[in-house]
Amino acid sequence: MSIPDLELLSEEDTFSQWDAERVIEKYVCGVCWGELAIVYIPGDNRVFIVCPEHGTVCLAGRVTRNTVSIAYEMASIRYKEAIKNISEWACLVPPPRERKPVGKNLAELGF
Ligand SMILES: [Zn+2]
Repeated sequence: MSIPDLELLSEEDTFSQWDAERVIEKYVCGVCWGELAIVYIPGDNRVFIVCPEHGTVCLAGRVTRNTVSIAYEMASIRYKEAIKNISEWACLVPPPRERKPVGKNLAELGF
């Protein structure tokens, strides 16, 4: 992970450790939707939140994990619809999963 150049960042780009832990729990990078990381500042109780690829979250932005999850779900639905409309690509659509009754699952597991 690249550590941000501390001279290029201001104190406004920092977070308390408590806030930073909440932020990386709820958000991902606004550019690549990748994981964010906390970078501790030696001798300071403030921290930076960074994306390894795009730098500080104050410049790259952030997006909630829920938003990303919804976007992936919508993209998956659109992908399946698009593939169905192209008959020669129909083989790329995974078959619907077989749903078994709970009792049958347990029996197969030896219970
Ligand atoms: Zn990023």
